[in-house]
Amino acid sequence: MALDHSRSTEVFGHARTVIPGGVNSPVRAFSNVGIDPVFYDRAQGAQVWDIDGNAYLDFICSWGPMIFGHGDPEILDAVRCQLDRGVSFGAPCEAEVRLADLICSVAPGVEEVRMVSSGTEATMTAIRLARGCTGRDKIIKFQGNYHGHSDSLLVSAGSGVATLGIPDTPGVTAATASDTMVATYNNLDSVRSLFEAAPDQVACVIVEPVSGNMGVVAPQEGFLRGLRDLCDQFGALLIMDEVITGFRVALGGAQQLFGVSADLCTYGKIIGGGFPVGCVAGRERFMSNLAPAGSVYQAGTLSGNPVAMEAGLAQIRKLAREADRLYPQLQRKSDVLFGGLRDAASQAGVQVQVNALGSVGTVFFTPDPVVDWQTAARSDRDAFAVYFRAMLDQGLLIAPSQFEAVFLSDAHTDQHLQAFLAAARTAFAQVANR
Ligand code: PMP
Repeated sequence: MALDHSRSTEVFGHARTVIPGGVNSPVRAFSNVGIDPVFYDRAQGAQVWDIDGNAYLDFICSWGPMIFGHGDPEILDAVRCQLDRGVSFGAPCEAEVRLADLICSVAPGVEEVRMVSSGTEATMTAIRLARGCTGRDKIIKFQGNYHGHSDSLLVSAGSGVATLGIPDTPGVTAATASDTMVATYNNLDSVRSLFEAAPDQVACVIVEPVSGNMGVVAPQEGFLRGLRDLCDQFGALLIMDEVITGFRVALGGAQQLFGVSADLCTYGKIIGGGFPVGCVAGRERFMSNLAPAGSVYQAGTLSGNPVAMEAGLAQIRKLAREADRLYPQLQRKSDVLFGGLRDAASQAGVQVQVNALGSVGTVFFTPDPVVDWQTAARSDRDAFAVYFRAMLDQGLLIAPSQFEAVFLSDAHTDQHLQAFLAAARTAFAQVANR
């Protein structure tokens, strides 16, 4: 290994004695790429530094939230200002109303917003709400889509679960799992069959409108519209999980980009400006069933936390203000990076599929098009591990899994993209020569 990671290795050794597996979220363990994880010390702009003093270009971006890069001055100012006025109230504050207003004004079809503290809580609440509104028990999700780790959604859940080779998890009861029906992404017939197998029993379909958790897989023409139509036909709610896509693929997320509105949607990551925030949002006629307006219970001590709300407000305000510049620029960077990766792999004689949509993309080490979990799972994970380690050695941080996305931010410059491509050429050569 080119870089010295001795301090990270030492801290990880100790971490394993006090934290299960040494990490607080499984994919951070780097176990599937055959090395110990790197412990971060600090981050600024497009860079992070580890505790050994190594510098990296960061293409994880905290798994999505840092769309302006690290240490954006507007967000930091908003946070600092709130710190002096109180860090937690457990009571209503104006910032949460302003953030809800802002989300309603830019996200199509969103009339009300309930703040929570993570994407997991957001999707869990959306599912409960859909069940409460319809009086039905079953839900349909897609193989390879991840919606957080609540029990009914931890079935065929892609990324972290797939990476570790755990198909489902102990601790989820058979009864809970049996209410979750699993369809094939980009395959409307599979959804229709499930609806027909359980007439009048399906509360909702939940989907990542652009899959990020089996690696990036875009919806094929007509897929999202078809889901909308099937939900309407069978009296179920459509939930779009925009935890990754929200405010990223467009200001109004995937619903704006593809012109299909959900009944409920979930956001996370970007809306917290780097703080722990999620929300469930949607039409008033469904949202008004949440307590205390309605009878579907949901609550949170830290929900609408003032510091997190100020950070989110600052980030979303800046996104709204700079949307005309930012989103086309991210698309141009995406074309340069992901187009360049296609060329680099082909020059090295490595067969890959590069899927990209806006500022997210994945290099799959497989010769065949990736359109769903089956085709994603054919990827050569050993080749990915070689590629990942070679990138890390050259100071390039990407997610340590074949089934995750590369995230682009406003802080990435052309020079950073060229550095990524130069490192990738070396990494692909190592894959070819292994
Ligand atoms: N939904 C999607 C689409 C996600 O990508 C994630 C997290 N990667 C979640 C939900 C869960 O969010 P969190 O990790 O904040 O609980």
